[in-house]
Amino acid sequence: MENKQISMIDVLIETHAGLERQGPGSPEMTIKALGFLNDLNRFSKVADLGCGTGGQTMVLAQSITGGIIGVDQSPDFINIFNANAKKLNLHDRVTGIVGSMKNLPFQKEEFDLIWSEGAIDSIGFEIGLTHWNVFLKTNGYVAVTCPSWLTDEHPAEIEKFWTDAGSGLDTVGYNIEVMQKSGYSFVAAFALPESCWTDNYFSPRETAEKAFMQKHSGNKVVEDYIESSKYEAALYAKYKKHYGYVFYIGQKV
Ligand code: SAH
Repeated sequence: MENKQISMIDVLIETHAGLERQGPGSPEMTIKALGFLNDLNRFSKVADLGCGTGGQTMVLAQSITGGIIGVDQSPDFINIFNANAKKLNLHDRVTGIVGSMKNLPFQKEEFDLIWSEGAIDSIGFEIGLTHWNVFLKTNGYVAVTCPSWLTDEHPAEIEKFWTDAGSGLDTVGYNIEVMQKSGYSFVAAFALPESCWTDNYFSPRETAEKAFMQKHSGNKVVEDYIESSKYEAALYAKYKKHYGYVFYIGQKV
């Protein structure tokens, strides 16, 4: 279909589908966060919400022995997720399903651990933590990354960018309070290093965008998307002291 209209979402999916990760992160930071949890065993049941194509899920699966179910709203990402699980011979205990993080299709108190990297901010930190709490066993863990302010100074350009993107930034202290009010005791929080953004996300994303642009040169939707993506990376380069992804780990009380 030569004249099919491409939407922003199409560009997002197509430029992210081939990436190791669809947001900032790294295997080292996934494993570091996992190091704060006790008592995960081969009977443990884990959900990875907003799992994308499963970069972090496969790292988790190679570090623990329990079963993992990945949930994402994108069928394209879930297809790749399940193909990746198969390729790594993890498909007997790692399965991806299409679903909404806001309305999980699970039983109450089903999980020992709920994981989520780079996704909770799209539904809201408090909404996510409160909804997900229902599906955790008592003493079960939640481990999520969420973009947060890292300094007292909150530059207006950054504030506007994240608010326009649909999720404002909060401070680490505020988010820890939200976690405690949402039914968890606080276990740990740490900021992801810069390389999680630059080497592991912006750089491969830029390569995928260049290739996509070549296929669709002159398409205004694609050009606008890539412009805003460049702006996001430029903002990060300029203001990275002030904000970043923070891993928050809590335990259901
Ligand atoms: N965890 C992956 C992907 C992060 S990108 C990684 O770190 O690489 C955010 C993901 O959340 C996307 O795959 C997007 O499709 C998914 N997502 C966003 N809102 C969602 C919702 N309401 N329900 C389910 N998935 C959602």
